[in-house]
Amino acid sequence: MTQVIREVPEMVRWSTETLGQNRSLGFIPTMGALHAGHRSLIEKARRENDRVAVSLFVNPTQYDDPTDLEAYPRTFEADMEMMQNAGVDILLFPEYRDLYPDDYRYRVTESPVSEELEGAHRNGHFDGVLTVVLKLLCIVRPTRAYFGEKDWQQYVLVRDMAAAFFLQTEIVPCPVIRESDGLAMSSRNVHLTVEERRLAPEFHRILSCGESPQILRRRLGERGFEVEYVERRDDRILGAVRVGKVRLIDNVSD
Ligand code: AMP
Repeated sequence: MTQVIREVPEMVRWSTETLGQNRSLGFIPTMGALHAGHRSLIEKARRENDRVAVSLFVNPTQYDDPTDLEAYPRTFEADMEMMQNAGVDILLFPEYRDLYPDDYRYRVTESPVSEELEGAHRNGHFDGVLTVVLKLLCIVRPTRAYFGEKDWQQYVLVRDMAAAFFLQTEIVPCPVIRESDGLAMSSRNVHLTVEERRLAPEFHRILSCGESPQILRRRLGERGFEVEYVERRDDRILGAVRVGKVRLIDNVSD
């Protein structure tokens, strides 16, 4: 049975009790509209920990576009069913005012990684992400927290934040889960029209073809994507494109 906790003090009490009993705790922060990508994180957490907690919070501070925030899919009933089936013990489902008693006066800012790639196209995005993740990790104090490599830059920034602030949580990366045609699963994919959905897997296919970022940008543009960026970082090629109104991000190892 997945127990829903809405209040921060109740979550703190539950975690304190669980950790006090020497039980390990796996944690997956999400914005809901759960799919097989999220499920893979939950299943990994289930295998590696005695207890599993998920949070569901559509975090307004990481959005610079209010219509994007408004349009974010909300599917609470289906999310609950999936969490029950996957053996999630606790769902933390807080309200903005409880998570942000300071109304976002305090925030985590990183430089320079958060200013490039996603950060260059989404103003203040990583301040919002890092701030909410730090808040959640302080409340839940998990043994391990699970992040998808689909959001590679986010994973790197969270991992390095945990090291910078001596957080006692292990940050665990999880591989990208894809549709059978290669499209990375994302809550936003439901907004693709039939025609856009047919084009979307070409993004991953072209990113994976082993060419330089410059050639990839050109090929994606020719194929009909509006390219925001394609860049190489370490051993990865990272990209973001728009198909109609939908923004897709992906990354592949080089
Ligand atoms: P979100 O609800 O989009 O904030 O995602 C919650 C977590 O699930 C993040 O760590 C994401 O990186 C991860 N995630 C989302 N989609 C996928 C996917 N297709 N494969 C692996 N992880 C994912």
